Amino acid sequence: MGNLNSGKIILSAKRAEYTKLIKEEAKRLGFLSCGVSKADFLEEEAPRLEKWLNKNMHGEMRYMENHFDKRLDPRLLVDDAKSVVSLLLNYYPSETQKDPDTFKISKYAYGTDYHFVIKDKLKALLHFIQEEIGEVNGRAFVDSAPVLDKAWAVKSGLGWIGKHSNVLSKQVGSFFFIAELIIDLDLEYDTPVTDHCGSCTACIDACPTEAITEPYVVDGSKCISYFTIELKEQIPNEYKGKFDDWIFGCDVCQDVCPWNRFSKAHSEPLFNPHPDLLSMTKKDWEEITEDVFRELFRKSAVKRTKFSGLKRNITFS
Ligand code: SF4
Ligand code: SF4
Repeated sequence: MGNLNSGKIILSAKRAEYTKLIKEEAKRLGFLSCGVSKADFLEEEAPRLEKWLNKNMHGEMRYMENHFDKRLDPRLLVDDAKSVVSLLLNYYPSETQKDPDTFKISKYAYGTDYHFVIKDKLKALLHFIQEEIGEVNGRAFVDSAPVLDKAWAVKSGLGWIGKHSNVLSKQVGSFFFIAELIIDLDLEYDTPVTDHCGSCTACIDACPTEAITEPYVVDGSKCISYFTIELKEQIPNEYKGKFDDWIFGCDVCQDVCPWNRFSKAHSEPLFNPHPDLLSMTKKDWEEITEDVFRELFRKSAVKRTKFSGLKRNITFS
């Protein structure tokens, strides 16, 4: 271990060397890409987040209202934070559900819950930094704490926010998870990339519930992902017949995006589905028992809806 003091200003050559080391290790750990930003107040995001919350576009996702300040300033999450290291992990599968007329679940939920898979990789990366660089203090975040991961990924040059409000890039499309390490180490910072949505409106036109109310604005409270995963109560009747057979999440706006033509299959064995999942027919879904549910989704994020939630979605669709 080196003898670097945390928080110490380091020379630019060292900053470049450390940044390169971290990015190489991230690649080795299987991350698709890695970008770095200065840990600062997210000035541009503040009014945008406030407006979105005020318009109640988060529906019943009340947790979005919590930690408003922490969401905008990583220095409130990690003492003396200097850098936000953003990481993308591919989940695009090599095979999708076979029957085109069956009920569909979002590709991100095919395999083991990403929280566990990514947390382990982030811990390994932080450990590497501490071993190779020195006394670095940091915290790992995967969708579980108040961090605006899309904003950080964009600041770090990993992509732009598309009209469907997901981060996407020309090289890797948008089928990836985003995670961060916030650390008290100065690094070399990346710069954002240009928006390449251009005049395309494929995602807006294809959204089954018209949840993309204007370019770059998704009304979360109209989105199928919200209804099928977050909403605990009954799904409003006005949406009956509009879910296009999605029963857990929805990939429509990403599936139609031209930049996802370049998505390549992931190489993470833990993201592979249970062998029976991809061949489930509509009838299999309709007749699913709690035992089959437990077996199919033993480690999957689909467990979040519980058996009763998935049954509700199947019946509603
Ligand atoms: S996930 Fe589905 S419902 Fe939500 S915005 Fe995209 S296309 Fe619309
Ligand atoms: S479908 Fe078109 S508008 Fe939507 S995110 Fe992709 S490129 Fe942008």
